Amino acid sequence: MRIDRRSRYRGCLAGLALGDALGAPVEFESLSTIRGKYGVRGITELQPWDRFPAGSFTDDTQMSLATARGCLRFLRDGGNPYRLVLEEYRTWRRTQTNPAEIRSPGGTCLDALGSGGFGTMDAPINDSKGCGGVMRVAPAGLAWPSGSAFDPASRFAALTHGHPTGHLAGGFLAELIAALVEGRTLSEALRKARKPLVGRRGHEETLNAVQRAEELAGSTVTAPEGIQKLGEGWVADEALAIAVFCSLRNEDDFRKGVTAAVNHSGDSDSTGCLTGAILGTRLGFGALPEKWVAVLEKREEILSLADELFELRRRQSSGS
Ligand SMILES: [Mg+2]
Repeated sequence: MRIDRRSRYRGCLAGLALGDALGAPVEFESLSTIRGKYGVRGITELQPWDRFPAGSFTDDTQMSLATARGCLRFLRDGGNPYRLVLEEYRTWRRTQTNPAEIRSPGGTCLDALGSGGFGTMDAPINDSKGCGGVMRVAPAGLAWPSGSAFDPASRFAALTHGHPTGHLAGGFLAELIAALVEGRTLSEALRKARKPLVGRRGHEETLNAVQRAEELAGSTVTAPEGIQKLGEGWVADEALAIAVFCSLRNEDDFRKGVTAAVNHSGDSDSTGCLTGAILGTRLGFGALPEKWVAVLEKREEILSLADELFELRRRQSSGS
């Protein structure tokens, strides 16, 4: 089946939000607690969490949308993309005093953005390799073509995450998304994303995590065993690896992929978010469960952001 590019843009942003929303109720719970609450298959439907209705997402999506807005402003008006994305992150940071907007934000992002400063790859702001950098930069893969997305995405992540793994994992994710937008298979996209990673200072941890995920995906381990071997996803390389593993195992089934990605004892919303971005881009908007899309928070805003990014990129690549 042919999937048009607009559908991949929508699939990416709505997909990451749905994966995040599926994992949100179980972010801090062990697999045995999740099974005790939701049954042996774990959580398989969007559920309410804290004070929020089913379909509500967390900081992962809030910050991904901030990245998307910054990229959109850059494509539309030009300027410095790092400055624009930083402004959007700071705008997000200011929302984090409003109870309706507080969705278990990561301390590293709050502290780094609250400091008034920012990090670069050469002048790191801290030594964090938390997954808060990688979890939010998928939209860079919608704004830059394959082969050019790695650098901007790593630099967006480095604004708050100073450890090489904390930002290089983000570069890898955006390259993966950019290659999937172009219609590559996941294996092809993984091969392409590896190229700009290898050779960067401190790339080994990220590369090893992705390789381990690919090996495990091709082995006979069960999904929970495979995920457990890859970690819990609180740090960038583990979150990326879990998403790669779950996506490879479910390349044709968005719902199964994100469900596998959130049912483990770790950072379920972030691994759901990353897997949702990958499979949503790979399979397009039509592959997302309709009843999930129907209750997704800020659905119209997410889809119009995707459409605007798509149009701006299309105009840019056709040279008009
Ligand atoms: Mg979160």
